[in-house]
Amino acid sequence: MTAPAIIISGPSGIGKSSVIARLLETCRYPLRMSISATTRSPRKGEKEGQHYHYWNVEQFQLGIRENRFLEWARVYEKDYYGTLIEEVEPFRNKGIGVVLEIDVQGAAQVREKLTDTFSVFLLAPLSVYESRLRSRGTETEEAIQRRLRAAQTEIPRMKEYNLTLVNDNLDETVERIRAEVELRFTESR
Ligand code: 5GP
Repeated sequence: MTAPAIIISGPSGIGKSSVIARLLETCRYPLRMSISATTRSPRKGEKEGQHYHYWNVEQFQLGIRENRFLEWARVYEKDYYGTLIEEVEPFRNKGIGVVLEIDVQGAAQVREKLTDTFSVFLLAPLSVYESRLRSRGTETEEAIQRRLRAAQTEIPRMKEYNLTLVNDNLDETVERIRAEVELRFTESR
């Protein structure tokens, strides 16, 4: 039995990274995080191979031609982001579930390709989301506007997900996801 791919989506700034970090610490089902490739520049404090693999557009397009991606998409009308097969399949084949922090376009591609998926959409009221995005202080006004536009197109697609959660309490959000993952997949190991 192949281990699952756990998809976490939701608007940028919603707290996906904190949820995933805590999920990896607490879940009894063995999980690892997939490191995506992206053409966007590293933010202050981000490290190659830890947050993303930072590729230029030529490298990314070569990766597409060589079929190295499980899924890829252009996110926020600009940069390429994608999940590398090598970040996922060797681990799932060894019984380790892989967590993917990807957008709605990528999530749809993964559901088409893999059978064992569990997907979660994290949500917050748009006003809360905007203030979180601003307080992070890492984006230009133009980038913030692109992210807000993307949120408006992503949110209606939350019905494609197995679970939708309003992320207003980190512990509760993680607990809900952890319980579902353990319930759905521990039996089948
Ligand atoms: P950020 O630039 O804030 O790190 O990420 C922006 C968004 O890109 C995230 O909210 C996430 O949904 C999406 N993203 C990150 N990695 C991937 C990926 O590998 N594939 C896809 N389709 N989206 C990704």
